[in-house]
Amino acid sequence: MALEPITDGPVFARAADDFGHRIHDIPEAVFTPTDEHEVTEAVREAHQLGLPLLARGQGHSTAGQAQVEGGFILDMEKMSQVRDVDGNSMVVEAGATWYTVLDTALSVGMTPPVLTDYLGLSVGGTLSVGGIGGASHKYGAQTDNVTALDAVTPDADLVTCSPQRNSAVFDSIRAGRGRHGVITTAVLPLTPTPDTIRRHVLHYTSLTAFLADQRRAMTLPDADYLEGQAKWTGNGWRYELEFVQYPGKATDAPADLTSLSFDDREYEELDYNAFATRLRDGERRMREIGDWLCPHPWVNYFLPESTTDTIIHRILDTTTLDQIGERGTVLTYPFTRHRMRTPAMQLPTSAVFHLFALLRTAVPAAPVSGTDMIEINHTLDRVVTDNDGTIYLGPLPRS
Ligand SMILES: Cc1cc2nc3c(=O)[nH]c(=O)nc-3n(C[C@H](O)[C@H](O)[C@H](O)COP(=O)(O)OP(=O)(O)OC[C@H]3O[C@@H](n4cnc5c(N)ncnc54)[C@H](O)[C@@H]3O)c2cc1C
Repeated sequence: MALEPITDGPVFARAADDFGHRIHDIPEAVFTPTDEHEVTEAVREAHQLGLPLLARGQGHSTAGQAQVEGGFILDMEKMSQVRDVDGNSMVVEAGATWYTVLDTALSVGMTPPVLTDYLGLSVGGTLSVGGIGGASHKYGAQTDNVTALDAVTPDADLVTCSPQRNSAVFDSIRAGRGRHGVITTAVLPLTPTPDTIRRHVLHYTSLTAFLADQRRAMTLPDADYLEGQAKWTGNGWRYELEFVQYPGKATDAPADLTSLSFDDREYEELDYNAFATRLRDGERRMREIGDWLCPHPWVNYFLPESTTDTIIHRILDTTTLDQIGERGTVLTYPFTRHRMRTPAMQLPTSAVFHLFALLRTAVPAAPVSGTDMIEINHTLDRVVTDNDGTIYLGPLPRS
């Protein structure tokens, strides 16, 4: 094989690590292909040797999902170019981050319809899980917003797939967790960018009112982006609904929020790019204080409407600040089922459901250790799945 195997050094080391910093599966070799033909070559070699192979994007998984003990890792960092962009769509290599996608799209006045909160994830990485964000209630996951893919199947066939062509491959690879082939390029549809966005942060003391308003907000025409957080204060939990309006897309008038029952609100106008890339500062801060390299025992759940309120109440009532951590984030936001069309995503069957995520950092010497947090996660997994919820981004069987 012309492609050089990497068996030591930083590229090899990072293949046995991820954002979770808990799992360290040592591969047989790492390859850094530069095009789809080199990907095909590596997949063929793995197939012939009977070795498992996985692609690695930015390694932001938290439980070893892009690692393989004794197998081949294709580190996609050298496949990160935008091959083509026009006023409607972009052809991009799977190793590119969503920062690259957004920068390029903005240069032609466009944006992908759905962005994740953090854009340092690779295109191949989010298309292998779903890729959700505040616009998903309106447009679905990123996997619902891809026109076509080029991919190398586990049998080393390079195929173009789309809803019209090789649709079975298209459906198995999108949200296929990297187990059904390696995405080499994606065709992403683009939509016009708003210049300035209007961001309303609505405050609640009542969890019930907050969750009901999240669902109600989805029916308002101006709700272009909806997310929300539970925040611990000395006096208990408080809730923030983030309601963002993209003027010019729905209406130019300020959003009419009179049907919502928040306690008070903040308002700001922001440049769209500043809004979309707002977690850059968060990453910088986490790196400065060392949190970025600590274990991250994160959990993400999809909860059906019928049990959302009960489960979130139950979890928050029994969760201490120590269990979340001083700098942990509790995220929840709503979805409409009919917008989330990717067959491989495991979702509740209800017409409306919520994401509920505990995004924690296990800092050294914290009262609740990373191991304890994992134990708590196992209990939460059972509570969620016993109540018709599903796990997003969960661990996968390891070889
Ligand atoms: C700080 C942070 C913020 C996040 N925010 C969000 C968010 O807002 N919304 C959301 O939905 N998720 C979010 N995530 C989760 C993230 O989307 C997933 O973990 C995603 O898979 C990470 O992308 P990656 O490029 O790091 O992939 P990796 O961790 O490298 O890989 C993840 C999976 O994708 C597969 N894969 C990677 N590239 C390819 C490819 N080219 N072809 C086939 N399979 C491939 C791997 O084999 C693996 O199974 C966040 C994660 C972090 C750490």
